Amino acid sequence: MNPIEPLVIKLAETRLDEAGVKKLAEHYAALDWLNKARELQPNDSEFLIELAGRSCYKSFGVGINPNVTRIRENPKDYLTNVLEKGDGSILEHATVTFGFLNVSRVFTHEIVRHRAGTAMSQESLRYVRPRGISLWVPPDLGQASNKFSEAIEEIEQRYHDLENQFDWETMSFDEKKRVTSALRRILPDGIATNLIWTANHRTIRWVIEMRTHPSAEVEIRKVFGEVAEICMRDYPLLYADFSRKKQDDGTTQYVPKFSKV
Ligand SMILES: Cc1cc2nc3c(=O)[nH]c(=O)nc-3n(C[C@H](O)[C@H](O)[C@H](O)COP(=O)(O)OP(=O)(O)OC[C@H]3O[C@@H](n4cnc5c(N)ncnc54)[C@H](O)[C@@H]3O)c2cc1C
Repeated sequence: MNPIEPLVIKLAETRLDEAGVKKLAEHYAALDWLNKARELQPNDSEFLIELAGRSCYKSFGVGINPNVTRIRENPKDYLTNVLEKGDGSILEHATVTFGFLNVSRVFTHEIVRHRAGTAMSQESLRYVRPRGISLWVPPDLGQASNKFSEAIEEIEQRYHDLENQFDWETMSFDEKKRVTSALRRILPDGIATNLIWTANHRTIRWVIEMRTHPSAEVEIRKVFGEVAEICMRDYPLLYADFSRKKQDDGTTQYVPKFSKV
């Protein structure tokens, strides 16, 4: 057994096409606004969300829409108001892609329950034949963790015994795939896997709230605690209302002031 730790990596995020944004601003006669606004808000994701929101009311400046007599010029005021009002649909325009590495199939089984606004690609245990069992040992096991590791090593041994019943060198790829898939049925839920996960900010806010709650499973809380830290660092206005709440077990819950925007 190879003991490992779950790892969270940010892989990608929304990027603006500056030429396209300029064209849009020209269309709305909002070039003056654009020049000022881009200086105030260099963050592409937060800017795109603000742009989408302002396009709804043409609130790029006073007078563009005759009904608008004042606007919130500061991006912080603008986005805080969006969160306060719960106008969360515009948060769906910007996404982040994460690599969740060394996570268990317990974790992936739970994260797939969040359907809205997500995309997932998970390592295949039909195609990939594991060389051994890599696994995160949950701290809750305490003194029983030795016995736990022994049990995993026994499964690992039995897996290899079964694997050795087949002559892999002579098998076609399709045969290998079928047998690999049959063999995986004895592998534990805790076996490490990798998942690429993309979600929009409306979804990420919701999943952080649900999955760092003390009632959630310990591994998913750990992973989404890291996601929360990355998002609070990289999108400070979109996550400005989140606060950290230390728990007795040393973990942290991330609580938004405005739930489920
Ligand atoms: C602590 C904890 C314990 C859990 N225990 C269990 C358990 O024992 N068994 C179990 O089966 N699940 C369990 N779950 C999973 C839970 O029931 C949800 O399936 C999961 O959290 C996904 O959340 P969501 O329903 O908000 O969906 P998401 O996909 O995250 O969607 C976000 C929101 O979009 C809206 N939405 C999404 N899809 C639809 C739709 N089709 N129709 C209408 N509105 C939609 C809803 O308002 C929803 O809240 C648990 C979750 C947590 C956090």
